[in-house]
Amino acid sequence: MIERTLVLLKPDAVQRGLMGRILSRLEDVGFKVVGAKMVWMDEEFGKKHYFDVAERRGEKVLKVLLEFMTVGPVMAMCIEGVNVVENMRKIVGTTEPKSAQPGTIRGDFAHVSFAYADGQNMGIKNLIHASGNSEEAKFEIGLWFKPEELHSYKTVHELHLF
Ligand code: ADP
Repeated sequence: MIERTLVLLKPDAVQRGLMGRILSRLEDVGFKVVGAKMVWMDEEFGKKHYFDVAERRGEKVLKVLLEFMTVGPVMAMCIEGVNVVENMRKIVGTTEPKSAQPGTIRGDFAHVSFAYADGQNMGIKNLIHASGNSEEAKFEIGLWFKPEELHSYKTVHELHLF
C-alpha cells in the first residue's frame, strides 16, 4: 500500500511564491518527501514527460502546455505515502481549476476555465502535476530522479499515522 508518486510544482506555483504553502498541505496529511529538486526543463524533456497529452488532449494543448511549463523552473518531488497516487490526485483536484473543488490545491489557488485558456491560446496554469496512476508514477519517477536522489528515512508520521 505504501507507494511513491511524482509531483511537480509548476512554474506558476514557483513564480507566485506558493511552493511553501502547497508543500505544507502535503506534509500536513503525512506524506513523506523522499526526493526534491528544482529543474528548468526544456521542450524535449517536456515531450517525454507529457508523452500522451497530444493523443489525449490534442497537439494544440501539448504546444501551449510545453510553452507554459518551460517559462521557468519547476520543483520536482518524489512523495511517499499510503495509496499516495490516488490520495495526491484527490488533494490536487481536477485539471480545470474552474471545476476543481474548494479545499483542493487547484480549487483554492486558481480559477480559470478550459474555455478561457483555449481562448487565450495558453496552457492551463493549475499549479501542480501529480502522476495519474501507479504505472505512470513509476515511469515519471524514473524520468525525473536517479535512484541515488531518492532517500529512505523515518518521519514521526510512521509512529502516529501509518
Ligand atoms: P492533469 O495534469 O490533471 O493530469 P492532463 O494530463 O490531461 O491533466 O493535462 C496536462 C496539463 O495540460 C494540465 O494539467 C494542464 O496544465 C494542461 N491542459 C490540459 N488541458 C488543457 C486545455 N484544454 N487547454 C490548456 N491547457 C490544458
